Amino acid sequence: MALIVQKYGGTSVGSVERIQSVARRVCQTVASGNHVVVVVSAMGKTTDGLVGLAREISSNPSRREMDMLLSTGEQVSIALLSMALQELGQSAISLTGAQVGIVTESEHSRARILEIRTERLERHLNEGTVVVVAGFQGISSGEELEFTTLGRGGSDTSAVALAAALGASQCEIYTDVPGILTTDPRLVPQAQLMDEITCDEMLELASLGAKVLHPRAVEIARNYGVPLVVRSSWTDEPGTRVISEVSPTRSLHNLEITKAVDAIEFDTDQAKVALLRVPDRPGIAARLFGEIARRNVDVDLIIQSIHDGNLNDIAFTVVSGMLPKAEAVAEAIAPVLRSSPQQTQEAEVTVDRRTAKISIAGAGIVGRPGIAAQMFAALFDAGVNIEMISTSEVKVSCVIDREDCDRAISALCLAFDLHCSPVHMPNTASVPPNTNAPLVRGVALDLNQARLALRRIPDVPGMAAKIFGVLAQKNISVDMIIQSQRCRIIDDTPTRDLACTVARADAETACNALRDLAELWDWGEVVVDPHVAKVSIVGAGMVGHPGVAARMFEALAQQGINLQMIATSEIKVSCVVAEEEGVKALQVIHQAFNLAGKETVEVPV
Ligand code: ADP
Ligand code: ASP
Ligand code: MG
Repeated sequence: MALIVQKYGGTSVGSVERIQSVARRVCQTVASGNHVVVVVSAMGKTTDGLVGLAREISSNPSRREMDMLLSTGEQVSIALLSMALQELGQSAISLTGAQVGIVTESEHSRARILEIRTERLERHLNEGTVVVVAGFQGISSGEELEFTTLGRGGSDTSAVALAAALGASQCEIYTDVPGILTTDPRLVPQAQLMDEITCDEMLELASLGAKVLHPRAVEIARNYGVPLVVRSSWTDEPGTRVISEVSPTRSLHNLEITKAVDAIEFDTDQAKVALLRVPDRPGIAARLFGEIARRNVDVDLIIQSIHDGNLNDIAFTVVSGMLPKAEAVAEAIAPVLRSSPQQTQEAEVTVDRRTAKISIAGAGIVGRPGIAAQMFAALFDAGVNIEMISTSEVKVSCVIDREDCDRAISALCLAFDLHCSPVHMPNTASVPPNTNAPLVRGVALDLNQARLALRRIPDVPGMAAKIFGVLAQKNISVDMIIQSQRCRIIDDTPTRDLACTVARADAETACNALRDLAELWDWGEVVVDPHVAKVSIVGAGMVGHPGVAARMFEALAQQGINLQMIATSEIKVSCVVAEEEGVKALQVIHQAFNLAGKETVEVPV
């Protein structure tokens, strides 16, 4: 008999009728000859309601008490679903996370799963009983046996982790939309359903704002090769398959905190072009990368951020052989930009012919800020200067001097305890394009980000390590890290600016920690802007296809939307825009890549 784990989200169990309908579906699955474990969320908006109650009492409630409170929501829905199953004549039992033995770290409100005890589950299953498990919660290891929660949206993670631990043949996530769509149908009703998506793409989309799946659920599916589908609770349509490559067998011990980094990747054939002091107005990136794409030059990493008030730096890397073409385009565009009347200093092109890209890769990087910090620290200790940083959910890449590459590789192998050989990853231009995957699989909007600008940081090696080390200590994940390409000399000290984005909820803590650091090290200033939106495109097919980023920038430029920051990784391009332009930006990008279907998706309330 096969074992299937099914998870039903809040809307799907939002009323007695809906719980009864879930019970009927579970019974059908049993009748088809399967053992079933069901994971449920709290009913409807129960968790939001509980958060609201807590806020009425305290503006900063203790995380432990929040876990005590929030974990009650799921206890209601498991009991009701279990009763509904029993009413249908199906033997069923509800269990909390603690009763199952979903053992987690003691970190309240964002605990990671360490281990799932399967004995009791297996005993019930073997007796033909359906086990209904409370999602989103666990119990801490150690003597205290504290209730913990996994973070909002964490029931998906509970379900996939249970599927991994039990060796289930499939994990099915039932929700209020037909599956994974090209974007959020609440913002673009013509969003189209995908038949399938790779785990890597889904990890990016989930982390960039597509809340249909919890990113950690995708991480576990990827690490343990759990077959995962996302389907509608209201229909029998097949939904979307999230596909993972068959991965080597991993131990289930320390399930969510296993080795974060699986591989070191490098490419010594990169060159970097930077356009310095370009005016901060819509259309500049579109023009530059549009022209580069017309010459059929594939750009690897792109970063852009504002510095000096109203002037931007844009930097990008290409395979060395393409440098002359890329440089020529940049040189041709720079004088046009120079004509800006407000500009006192001229725009300028700089080229670095001898750079290399070095990356750490692994699904465990997601949401673990300490990993990037550890990489920067290891490079610093090895005396390697970091020129550009690009982060994605499964990778952190640094552009460094080619001379330093061997030293960097050894330092990183040591730091992450890797005994496998580093993988040579040639620049995307020489990789055969992935013709099966669409250029852009999906588009996401994240309205929960804040932008941090760190100005006039002394340009000495090790600064990145220090800054991200401080944030990692506070458990703050950082995204879109961008260093200015220019040095400014202030009181004989060369300085640089740095910009990054963090979750809005972490912005104040991050800002305070960095201000303390700034005082200690006598830097310039730390400025936070909470009114930003991040829009991103994700697609494995963009690798080796010039012009994808340019098309996105062009669509935004046509609407007069200014790009505050740009950061790319191999399979995504993200732009930070003003908060009020976020939804519009998402809609025009979705349109620009012809992702809309003819039918519209209606999301039930
Ligand atoms: P559940 O309660 O079932 O876990 P969630 O609200 O967490 O449901 O996730 C489903 C919601 O995710 C959808 O209603 C939709 O608004 C949103 N969403 C965002 N991006 C996407 C996307 N790319 N595809 C599908 N749904 C998306
Ligand atoms: N009930 C929790 C939440 O609303 C967990 C979940 O639904 O996944 O975040
Ligand atoms: Mg959810």
